[in-house]
Amino acid sequence: MMTLVREASEGLTHLFFPHACRSCGFPLGNRKTFLCFTCKASLPCTGFEAYPGNPVEKIFYGRIPVAAASAYLFFNAGSATQQLIHQIKYKDDPELAKNLGRLMGKALASNNRFTQLDAIVPLPLFRNRERQRGYNQAGKLAEGIAEMLQIPAKADLVKRIRATETQTHKNRTERWQNVEGLFKISPHAIVRHQHLLLVDDVITTGATLEACATALLDEGATVSVATLAFAMK
Ligand SMILES: [Zn+2]
Repeated sequence: MMTLVREASEGLTHLFFPHACRSCGFPLGNRKTFLCFTCKASLPCTGFEAYPGNPVEKIFYGRIPVAAASAYLFFNAGSATQQLIHQIKYKDDPELAKNLGRLMGKALASNNRFTQLDAIVPLPLFRNRERQRGYNQAGKLAEGIAEMLQIPAKADLVKRIRATETQTHKNRTERWQNVEGLFKISPHAIVRHQHLLLVDDVITTGATLEACATALLDEGATVSVATLAFAMK
């Protein structure tokens, strides 16, 4: 019953206040704002960007050389982060993704580990998936980061050549087999001696990011990584 009442009142909220906080639904007056003051202030920020050897960098230890890596938010089931990721992946909300990218960019700009970059590169979706969704959420995050760091976002630098099954129930070897050779550098793209920031929504095992970074490293790039959220395995 309470759920029904809540759903009905949410429906009304959207009808009368179509611009609402993406986390709690509170009506917002300013169209440039995507989170209410309370939700923004209580975002579970990791602060990882300032710390070499942080848990996101440790994911890549012994696998590939990553110059620096960070995730902006902690991800827990039922958290505001989960709600925001759901919103940008399944609720047709590219503006929210770009806004979250701006918050990521602001955090990255606060120290010098992420400022010496040549381009921001979103982890590509397979083109059919991007067509279904209408946009790549990682691409929108990258646009927001690019705006804050004043560094170009290059969404066409690398291509994903097939879709993948979910990685969740695979062991480490199976995960790698699932993503090996998944990414190709676009013909004529200049990658050598470029320091690229690879961007995705969530990092868990890092297998997909590792596959994409490997394609870039093989062409002589330096790679750093930034994700919106960090989910512990
Ligand atoms: Zn809120």
